[in-house]
Amino acid sequence: MSTKETSLEEIVSLAKRRGFVYPGSEIYGGFAGTFDYGPLGVALKNNVKNLWWKMFVTDREDMYGVDAAILMNPKAWEASGHVSGFNDPMVECKNCKGRFRADHLEDASVCPSCGKKGTLGEARTFNMMFKTKAGATDDESATVYLRPETAGGMFVNFKNIIDSFHPKLPFGMAQIGKAFRNEIAPRDFVFRVREFEQMEVEYFVRPADWEKSFEEWQGTMHAFAEAIGLPKAAVHELEVADGDRAHYSKRTIDFEFDYPFGRKELWGLAYRTDFDLKAHSETSKVDLNYLEDGEKAEDRFTPHVIEPSLGVDRTVLAILASAYTVDELGGEERSYLKLSPSIAPVRVAVFPLLKNKPELVAKAREIYAALKKAGIAAMFDDNGNIGKRYRRQDEIGTPHCVTIDFDTLGENPEHKDTVTLRDRDTGEQERIAISELLPKLGA
Ligand code: ATP
Repeated sequence: MSTKETSLEEIVSLAKRRGFVYPGSEIYGGFAGTFDYGPLGVALKNNVKNLWWKMFVTDREDMYGVDAAILMNPKAWEASGHVSGFNDPMVECKNCKGRFRADHLEDASVCPSCGKKGTLGEARTFNMMFKTKAGATDDESATVYLRPETAGGMFVNFKNIIDSFHPKLPFGMAQIGKAFRNEIAPRDFVFRVREFEQMEVEYFVRPADWEKSFEEWQGTMHAFAEAIGLPKAAVHELEVADGDRAHYSKRTIDFEFDYPFGRKELWGLAYRTDFDLKAHSETSKVDLNYLEDGEKAEDRFTPHVIEPSLGVDRTVLAILASAYTVDELGGEERSYLKLSPSIAPVRVAVFPLLKNKPELVAKAREIYAALKKAGIAAMFDDNGNIGKRYRRQDEIGTPHCVTIDFDTLGENPEHKDTVTLRDRDTGEQERIAISELLPKLGA
């Protein structure tokens, strides 16, 4: 079954039932635009973030990681243009009071919620930054914002990285963290939410080298899509047209994904010129120019920036949507998650064939402990018949299951110290030596 045929409802329902993602504040009736990740969702997200950090930071020699504060001096958001310009056009329905993004309406004369004609008011701009107050005073001077993107935290540390590490161009900074946007109409599960996570890079280059770096990051983003198991055919590039780009951007590519609700932006890659460092330099009055060791003072210049920006939540949704598969196994229909082993929350499940045979349980526990010790995400399950246990693991996308049976213990001497290893996608089992387990699982 392809992604397009999978409905969002099926994914939402599986995500809640099996502990990936729950509605935010559910016992209070929920809270629009927020979701809580459960144990399997956390594991999946961590795997995505760790793989991103490896591919975008630690596998390279030119990247510097940071973890900046979410609350920043509000001047940083004035400099970046977010205070004056981070606006979406909003319309309100006079009848049902629903609020919608004017640029998302299919028919501007009909309310998408109550269906009435001619009830939508004029479009008004609406700043998407969440405001709060810092300290005990309540006046305007205490206003601070929850960051709408992680990028700002990197630009304000540009000079710190230069001073501590003296990097040569090109080099980049990377950050993973929460971002907040007061979306007018949060929707489509974790696709458009008010609190989400971003994985961002600001890569600093000499102006003449921007195209080379842009293409390099474009390649890395495709490699990442492949590494997390997104089907190539479902990922598309959209070259953002001149009039639609931010004014400072000379080139932007949206990476789009075929979600169950249509082709939508998954990630972005932008050439932001020297806009950000220049703006922060002007507003902060701190010189954010760059001079390489040994170069003359008059060679100082403002580096240009390439920015790959990836949303964690939209990535998780793309993974779940493309992994959701319905097939027939043993004459029965089954739905399962065809997750790549690189990001599956559980890499392998370990079962004693029977729960009430202490010698089977002891051997299974021993193998389970050894897998955990080797750093493999393993789960122990002795509940219910083996068929049911397989199905439960299939549904959460566990690539392999290991079963310890009487042969393992030597009932059939030929099979002593072997286990069965079951493949999620084919349902087929093979008998392998316990000593082969770790290499088989890629550890
Ligand atoms: P959109 O046009 O869909 O609102 P955007 O172009 O404003 O998105 P960017 O500002 O480029 O998004 O943000 C970078 C990335 O952050 C996006 O590609 C997406 O993965 C993620 N992202 C942005 N807004 C949200 C949101 N409200 N919920 C979840 N992820 C988001």
